[in-house]
Amino acid sequence: MPSFDVQHQDRAVRLIQRALFAERLPHAYLFHGPDGVGKETFARRLVNVLLCERPDESAGPDGAPQRLACGTCEDCLLCAAGTHPDLHLVYRQLIKFHDDPTVRRRKGLDLGVDVVRQFVIDKVGSKPIRGRAKVFVIREADRITAQAQNAMLKTLEEPPETTFLVLLVSALDRMLPTIRSRCHVTPFGTLPPEFIAHKLGELLAEIPPDRARLCARFSQGSLGLALQHAEDRLDEHNERLIRMLIELPRQAVAAVAAWFESEAKALGEKYARRDPEITDTEARRRALKALFGLTATWYRDLLHTSTDSTDLIANAAYGDQLASAARGTTPGRAVAAITQLSETERRLDANVNTRLCLDELVIRLTRLAGAA
Ligand SMILES: [Zn+2]
Repeated sequence: MPSFDVQHQDRAVRLIQRALFAERLPHAYLFHGPDGVGKETFARRLVNVLLCERPDESAGPDGAPQRLACGTCEDCLLCAAGTHPDLHLVYRQLIKFHDDPTVRRRKGLDLGVDVVRQFVIDKVGSKPIRGRAKVFVIREADRITAQAQNAMLKTLEEPPETTFLVLLVSALDRMLPTIRSRCHVTPFGTLPPEFIAHKLGELLAEIPPDRARLCARFSQGSLGLALQHAEDRLDEHNERLIRMLIELPRQAVAAVAAWFESEAKALGEKYARRDPEITDTEARRRALKALFGLTATWYRDLLHTSTDSTDLIANAAYGDQLASAARGTTPGRAVAAITQLSETERRLDANVNTRLCLDELVIRLTRLAGAA
């Protein structure tokens, strides 16, 4: 029987089970939380219960009643295979399957009104194919444009009796208040880094513990993001970064800025391969921000080393280099470096010229790395 428990999301599980059991399931859910913490897995469990021919009812781990899919009926088998005709998974790349060839030629960066109309609004009116229910799960629903969100209002307001919609959202502030008020907002929390590192070990049998630990530390509590870091071999980028940072006081500013640019290009190419819809410029910008994140972690580790909070150190594998770098700096300088990194990130977001941002950042970091 497919279990309903998505780990570390007890609150969401309780809320939905209560509604399922009371036969008062809202027609529109908005699952809100960071990417990769189990929102989609959870939505698929819910879809499975709604489509299952004979769901089981039993007592859950906390004694409260729970309803689970049987796991053996034809609907459950179709759900498990991801081919149930009444599950409509909606995502921005569907633009490539739009009826209109001019729409198909566009980049699918957002979920625009054309995709939302063809794959959600127009389909809501039709009957479920297997007769039980029809469920729409919308990935990255915070990328639905304002125009498309407005177009969806009526659908969310009064969907047919057997239709359910689940919007998966990481940035709640991008949803119009009118959408939020029509959905049942269910919060999902971040996952603890130890749990993520453990999960990485389970999912990727060959991953060394140091890499799992680093990817988990960088995941902002998201297993999905940690998996991407593992796939991108973020630890290799980090290793080159640390070597560069140790040499920083002896490097020319232009050489370090060029290093950041070429490293961001290499990492950005991995991002662009995974998501061909994003532009190369956007991929490089995201990669640069990831490198800044790694840099900030190095400085945070220097702080933790000087205050002996060793259990918080992400780069524990570089113990000797950390200890020696920590002797050459002060907590005040490490904090100033971290502040400078977030300021540079803010300027990048404000579209300040990348090279200009990098030159200024490197000048500041080099000054901070000078004789203590
Ligand atoms: Zn079933």
